[in-house]
Amino acid sequence: MTDISSKDINELKEYMTSIGEKPFRARQVYKWLHQNLSTDFSEMSDLSKALRQKLSEEAYITVLEPIDVQISKEDETRKYLFRLPDDNLVESVLMKYKFGLSVCISSQVGCRMGCAFCASGIDGLLRGLTPGEMLGQIEAIQRDIFREAAVTVPKSDSEEYSRNRISHVVVMGTGEPLDNYDNLLSFIRMLTDENGLHVSQRNLTVSTCGIVPRIKELAEKKLEITLALSLHAPTQEKRRKLMPVANKYDIHEAVDAMKEYQEKTGRRVTFEYSLIKGVNDTDEDARELSELLWTGAHINLIPVNPVKERSFAAPTREAAIDFQRKLEKFRINVTIRREMGQDIDGACGQLRRRHLER
Ligand code: SAH
Repeated sequence: MTDISSKDINELKEYMTSIGEKPFRARQVYKWLHQNLSTDFSEMSDLSKALRQKLSEEAYITVLEPIDVQISKEDETRKYLFRLPDDNLVESVLMKYKFGLSVCISSQVGCRMGCAFCASGIDGLLRGLTPGEMLGQIEAIQRDIFREAAVTVPKSDSEEYSRNRISHVVVMGTGEPLDNYDNLLSFIRMLTDENGLHVSQRNLTVSTCGIVPRIKELAEKKLEITLALSLHAPTQEKRRKLMPVANKYDIHEAVDAMKEYQEKTGRRVTFEYSLIKGVNDTDEDARELSELLWTGAHINLIPVNPVKERSFAAPTREAAIDFQRKLEKFRINVTIRREMGQDIDGACGQLRRRHLER
């Protein structure tokens, strides 16, 4: 069976030709799948009955099934747990901001990067997600939102439609996106396609632990997406203890690759820094961090989310603000990430782990 949900528009044209259909059918099918969010070939009313029949015999649509949804009472953040076609589980998060709806997706089932503070890597990597499974997380959430708000597809220019559409995507859930590089690129093409959800590249952020050759390859693509590096320490010595990937790619190489990305794409990069009490939040850390980066560099501070299998604690709010002020004195731009959905399973990978333990 063909995984039709993972084909970008050009691949779909080739596929249509291969089953003896005219290539223009691809656009119709693509729209049904990725704009109208169809879950069944029988809904595709402008295709002949014979073609619908043929497609259902030769291809399948990847539909992610929500098996748990937690909704924060504080800020309406939602955490979804989805079942994949092979019964693996992945998590995604919906955040409601003033600027619109944003979804954080997973890129792999598990992760092999083994960062010391992270719940996602505890059991290692099972597999990378297909492009259809990455997109499928967003599509399943979008279906949910549209149903609740009684917004009808196909797409329209109504205020109702634009208010309820997912406009921003971050690849910051479980997994290392650059360890699933080809599928990530297909996913980006599909997400931003005008025949699909048509999310702007500028509204897409990909976060990496620092796989240097891939950062450089991505820079050559000259996309307009935002790239974030998970830094979490100011020196190679400290970073190695928290992030095994640093043994392979030195902190300076990673920072240089980010600089290269910024220069080649004209897109400002960001650095993620999980503040861990007594580990990376001292005065010296702030000074060393400013020496590692450049004037005007942008850091997102995230108080570490305590994970029960790990023994790290977050600094107090005051200590985090103090660290921010110190960095600002060194002319680093700092935002403290608003902590959303604190009352639901917060840290990456926690909801899935809780289900696996049952
Ligand atoms: N592999 C990618 C993306 C997934 S993790 C990366 O490393 O960037 C998304 C972000 O959450 C990363 O910055 C990661 O380091 C951070 N993170 C993971 N566990 C965390 C925790 N317990 N508390 C705070 N941030 C965490």
